[in-house]
Formats: sequence, C-alpha cells, structure tokens
Amino acid sequence: MKGIYNQYKEFRLPNRRFKFNEYLDLLENLYQIPWLQINTEGFSAMGKPIYSIRMGTGKLRVMVWTQMHGNEPTGTAALFDWFNFIRSEHGAELRELLMRELTILFVPLVNPDGAEMFTRRNAQYIDINRDALQRQSPEAQLLIQLRNSFSPEWGFNMHDQDTHYSVGSTQLPATISFLAPTYNTAKDIDQRRAATINLISTLIPVVNSFQPGIVARYYDSWDARCFGDHFQAVGTNTLLVESGGYYNDNEKQTARFLNFLIYSVALQNLATGNFMQDGQPLYFSLPENGKNYFDYLIKNVSYTPMYGQKQKVDIAINRVEFEANGDFYSSTFIADLGDLSNQRAFETIDGTAMEVSVAGVFADTLDNISQIEALSRRNLYAQGISYIRVKNIEKADQRFVPDFTISDAASFRLPTLKPESYADLVFRKADTVELLFIGGKKIVL
Ligand SMILES: [Zn+2]
Repeated sequence: MKGIYNQYKEFRLPNRRFKFNEYLDLLENLYQIPWLQINTEGFSAMGKPIYSIRMGTGKLRVMVWTQMHGNEPTGTAALFDWFNFIRSEHGAELRELLMRELTILFVPLVNPDGAEMFTRRNAQYIDINRDALQRQSPEAQLLIQLRNSFSPEWGFNMHDQDTHYSVGSTQLPATISFLAPTYNTAKDIDQRRAATINLISTLIPVVNSFQPGIVARYYDSWDARCFGDHFQAVGTNTLLVESGGYYNDNEKQTARFLNFLIYSVALQNLATGNFMQDGQPLYFSLPENGKNYFDYLIKNVSYTPMYGQKQKVDIAINRVEFEANGDFYSSTFIADLGDLSNQRAFETIDGTAMEVSVAGVFADTLDNISQIEALSRRNLYAQGISYIRVKNIEKADQRFVPDFTISDAASFRLPTLKPESYADLVFRKADTVELLFIGGKKIVL
C-alpha cells in the first residue's frame, strides 16, 4: 500500500507548514472533479472561507473535519493525498462503493486563520475544540450548523498530538492514537459508542500492519466543551484520530500515510458495514498515551554541575519549534537530566565516554548576519562553538540562520545547562568534539 500511496502523495505539500493560499491551490484542482461538490460554508474570524467537499449519494452520512487546531495539519495533508488516490484508476473501485453507499461531507481546514499563523487557536484566541457549547468562534458555530443540517451518523475528528507521547510504557512512539469519546462522566458505553469502538477496532490492525505497537488510546475524559464528546452525546458516532511522532520524522509524514490508510479503510468499512464485531477487548487493550517520550536520550554522560563534583547523568533533549515573523526555527530544549534509566526516546545514545557542556560562543562579534557565510561550520563545531553574536540584528528582521544560534550582541548571555532550558549542547570524547545539538538538530562530527 505504501507504494501506491507514494504515487498519490500530494507533492505540493512536502511539510506541515503550508499556507492558506497553498491550500486554496490544491482545492482548486478538486473543482474539476464532477463527482465532488465544493461549497463555501462560512467564514473564519478573519474572513477566510471555510469549504466543504461533498461526495456520494448514499444513505449513510459521514462528516470528516480536519485542522480545527491550526497547527495540526496532518489530517488535511492526508486528505489531499487521498483525493489524488480516489480520483485515480487505483481508487476507482473504492470510489464507486463509497459514492453508492455513503454521503461524505469533508470539512478540511476548519481553522484557516490558525493554520496561516500555525497556532492551535483561532484569530480570537479561542480554542475551537473547547467551544462546542458556547460557540463564541464562527468556526465552532459553523461546525455545529453543519452537523445540524447534514445530521451525520458518523464523524471523524482529525487532530495532531505532541510527538512526545509513547504507547503506554512501551519503547514505541504513539504515532496514531484513537479515541471513541465518551458522552457522560460515567464513561458509559451505549450502542453508538460501542459502534465507534467497533470501527476503531478495525483500524488498529491497519496501523499495526505498518508497524505493530505504534497505536495508543487517547485519554478518555468527558468534556462537554469538546466537539468529539459533544457530537457523540448528540447522536453522531465520532472518532478522534490523533497523529503523533515517528522516528526521524519531524514532519509527521508517517502519521500522514497512516491517516490516508485510515480514511480508506474506515470509509470502506462504513460503506460495507463490515465492522460489526465486539471491538471492545481490542480497543481497551490498547495502552493509553504515555508521557515523556524524548527526541534524544544521552545516557551515562559526564557532567560538571555548578555545585559539587563531576558526575554521570542521563540527559534528555527535545526539539522545539518556534514561529517568528512568518518563518519558523527550532531549538534544543533540555527536557530532563539525572537518572533517566527507565525513560524512552526516538534515539538513545551511549554517552559513557562523553562529557557534556553548553556550546561556546564565537569570540568575534559580527557586524551583520551575512558575515556568517564566511565562517567555516566544521571548524567552529570542532571547537564546540554554536553561538554567534551579531551587532545589527533587528528584531523585525530576525532570521533563522541554519547551523548556528544567532544572538543580539548586546543582550547575549550564555545559557545554563539545566532542565527546562534552551541550550545548544556539545559532547566531547577525550576533549574532542563528537556530537553537537544545535537548533534541535543532532550533528555528528
Ligand atoms: Zn487538536
């Protein structure tokens, strides 16, 4: 299936940070397809249109919405992959089945303002997924209105989760987490919630077929303000799908592929009705999301604290992204330090012969950023240097310079190596630099 998928993966969306105009261009391509109806359903707080894509004339109604959190685009990207597939010859059989048995209302990009800014919330700073009752945001009003007018039996609520979740206490990342939301505080399972659980139980093997054990159960707690819980309570069987991390995959392309499979298999199963079994044992056997799955774990490394003797510790490092002036950059975050022997990470490194310190600062102060081009990265790295002070660095013009961490000369202070702080780190073996973490990237010398 991965081979077929790669043929149809939307190459114009190479990563997670696509803008509204890029989305519009892709939507534009779908207008040519006679069996899709595209409508403007409403507008975001800043006036951007929110569209629906309608497909099929079947009896069973399914509503699929994505990216109500603006910085959670995986379900949207996978939807464009899926449309590429379903309009192709490979997708013809599935298309005919779905068109006959289902009426599907896709509502991609529910939060276009948040997507443009790559923020969770909408332009009013409202979290749309806590607004199902008050409906203060136009986006939440629209979702409610669409549910009321379309009255879907089924709903797919597509989200992204933090990449730092594991599958319970296993060694594996939670690349996909599912939830059949509850509809009351007692977390009862009525017939409709049982049906949602049954559909999810047919999707668990689909994820496992890519790699066993990378699927978890999302935290199950009743919150009437959330759309999944609200829709489940008012009569739409709603699946929550959360896309998480995978190895060497900052852009969540693995979860994107799995979303594509989930759309295909879930819709097919709804169309055939071929999922009515007792899914509860399998669903409840899924471990819940576990916490503190790190990007990097360097074990047993020498470290000289501010107070006391040199000692051996484990250091956990996470990559964190920041948005600045329409661009983004990443940084190295010291997530934890100490005895982390029972903790897990995407990559674990034996630091037994290594010593850790904060990276050094380049001795000269540069007049402007362009002077960086003349510096040799390799030479500076070999000296353990990643910080560069620049005199004329305007806040408004603060640019991401790959491979170094740039600071305003006047306000620069070398960071401290301590948990919950941002710092570039250097690992030396017998005084020779072996490994650096700069801007969230691992660099091996
Ligand atoms: Zn979300």
